[in-house]
Amino acid sequence: MQKKEDFNEWYNGIVEKANLSDKRYPVKGMNVWTPYGWRIMRMIDTYIREELDGTGHDEVCFPLLIPETEFKKEKDHIKGFDSEVFWVTHAGENELDVRLVVRPTSETAMYPMFSLWIRSHQDLPLKVYQIVNAFRYETKQTRAFIRVREIHFFESHTCHDSEEDAQRQIEEDVAILSRIARRLCLPYILSVRTDWDRFPGAHYTVGIDTVMPNGRTLQIGSIHHYRTNFSEPYGISFEDSDGQRRFVHQTTYGMSERLLGAVIGVHADDKGLVMPPDIASFQAVIIPIFSKNNAEEVMAACAALRDELAAEGIRVKLDDRDARPGSKYYDWEIKGVPLRLELGGRDIENGVVTFVRRDTGEKGTIDIASAAQGTGLVLEMIAESMLEAAASIQGSYITDIEDMDSVVKERILRFGWCGDPACGHAFEERSDMKILGHRYGQAEAYEGRCIICGKPTGKRVLAANAM
Ligand code: ZN
Repeated sequence: MQKKEDFNEWYNGIVEKANLSDKRYPVKGMNVWTPYGWRIMRMIDTYIREELDGTGHDEVCFPLLIPETEFKKEKDHIKGFDSEVFWVTHAGENELDVRLVVRPTSETAMYPMFSLWIRSHQDLPLKVYQIVNAFRYETKQTRAFIRVREIHFFESHTCHDSEEDAQRQIEEDVAILSRIARRLCLPYILSVRTDWDRFPGAHYTVGIDTVMPNGRTLQIGSIHHYRTNFSEPYGISFEDSDGQRRFVHQTTYGMSERLLGAVIGVHADDKGLVMPPDIASFQAVIIPIFSKNNAEEVMAACAALRDELAAEGIRVKLDDRDARPGSKYYDWEIKGVPLRLELGGRDIENGVVTFVRRDTGEKGTIDIASAAQGTGLVLEMIAESMLEAAASIQGSYITDIEDMDSVVKERILRFGWCGDPACGHAFEERSDMKILGHRYGQAEAYEGRCIICGKPTGKRVLAANAM
């Protein structure tokens, strides 16, 4: 199975081969995180915690179950989620008076509590997040990390005294995203979704999409400005400095295990995973190359190298299994370890370690005298070139078109749109693609025509087929 030939088959095969998740659990779309997969996800979660803690968010943990009465307070929200929630209807043998929703997302769990927590402007801004699992009854074909019914994700929720302060939060979220995506070596596109595609209850939604190598987009997260759409029905208000009661402005930001799905899809190859150094369980693996005569000497040098790298904070593994080097290479290639270090008699004589990069296959040597520093530098180079390579592939998919005859599938199309929903719907129907929206935060001088009605427009949007 080859990535170029059948992306979906290839993706499923890689997840299985690398043993990231076990889909044999007897509930469809609810997969088991294996030790290797979970270790990577936990690493991603660690960076998310670091970022959110570092920007003044507090971690919380809300209950999984939400009373139907709270869930239904915001009418668009319930409309958007009604068909994809799991319900708890019984406790033991008793039918519940008020059914309980298994959280699909936590607005309706948190906001009744926010209305108790927030009293005055001194309680603002309120910035909290949680890293939990959410549940959605996905009816399309499930796919590990990309389309599942139990979703590991983080959600941050904030309350502000003004629309402007909430807008500042969105800018902060965008900055957090850029730092996390850099660690994952993932390029992405930020676009303001169309009115019919925004999150149920949101004032506007910024979708975060990454382009998969089959030319389809994968939405890896989203950021929403709610204005007072939720604070009004949930009664989240504060007394401002003039003694007036006002509703808070709210935002949310969330990303899920799709981040891992994106890393697999974007970076892995036909041999296995290719892990970005920042989230690799092992960043380097040391393979001893020895004969009967020098086994002891080589093993001692390998152990010393391991200790030196570990002391500098590099996640390193010495593979001292009794197996041929070739079969060790094969195993670590599947796992996607960014850097393979080979150490043999000749290397020791020359005072070097031989390295092989997982991403490009490139070979070279590092001076053994400064092995930790040298290894660190090569890991940085790997991360940089993984991001560059992915960004250039993403860029190559963006195709400008001027009329409907030029529509091509599995490309990111860019074209003029007058903004009239009728034209937007017409485009989506005739192309069988989805408008991602206009680029967030990028004022561009564009003068063109709406692809449907031909009216002059200064607005350009992107469209794609989603995964
Ligand atoms: Zn138009």
